[in-house]
Amino acid sequence: MVFAMSAPKAENLTWHAGEVEKDARAAAHGHRGAVLWFTGLSGSGKSTIGHRVERRLIERGAFAYVLDGDNVRHGLNSDLGFAPEDRVENIRRIGEVARLFADAGGLVLSAFISPYRHDRDRVRALMGPGEFIEVFVDTPLEICEARDPKGLYKKARAGEIANFTGLDAPYEAPTNPEVHLETERLSVDEAAASVVRYLEEHDILGES
Ligand code: ADP
Repeated sequence: MVFAMSAPKAENLTWHAGEVEKDARAAAHGHRGAVLWFTGLSGSGKSTIGHRVERRLIERGAFAYVLDGDNVRHGLNSDLGFAPEDRVENIRRIGEVARLFADAGGLVLSAFISPYRHDRDRVRALMGPGEFIEVFVDTPLEICEARDPKGLYKKARAGEIANFTGLDAPYEAPTNPEVHLETERLSVDEAAASVVRYLEEHDILGES
């Protein structure tokens, strides 16, 4: 499968600009739109921390929304599996959805393993400057495997799941993430607080 980022199959398409500028949307929401892209091994804490950040943001009246791996695979990406080309397409579609949410002025929290650096960088390239915030949920494999919240490592070790990230499929760690969370040393609340602090310090979110 070959995917071209900005080469639609259809012809005679025109991008309709609309009447509302980005700044007007930001003023309406009280914050700028952005994508917080959580990446890390299965069980590292992407979803748990992402949902806690979402809660903190909603408590402040923000327009925030978690795009979660399994949920998206039930709907939008129900035709995709875990083979490398499916993983690429999975992330491409999620990136496009995240971009639309952020364009609407939202703070999108995406929680996908997204193991390939190239795929994450491709989503970054879709976004404007400062609008893609890569959050590396850095939890060693041994700890993820000990947590095993969904019992997936157990199944993978038993040979019931192939292409499992960290075991028989690669994970390419971010080299320069905007936020680096070492969950061995941070509680869920502390990790969420450092993500919110990043948004405040980079003028995405006003101080509360
Ligand atoms: P992922 O979305 O990365 O697959 P989950 O968020 O589903 O991971 O699972 C992470 C598990 O680790 C949860 O059961 C969570 O309660 C647990 N956990 C323990 N300590 C932490 C921590 N400091 N940060 C995040 N998760 C933690």
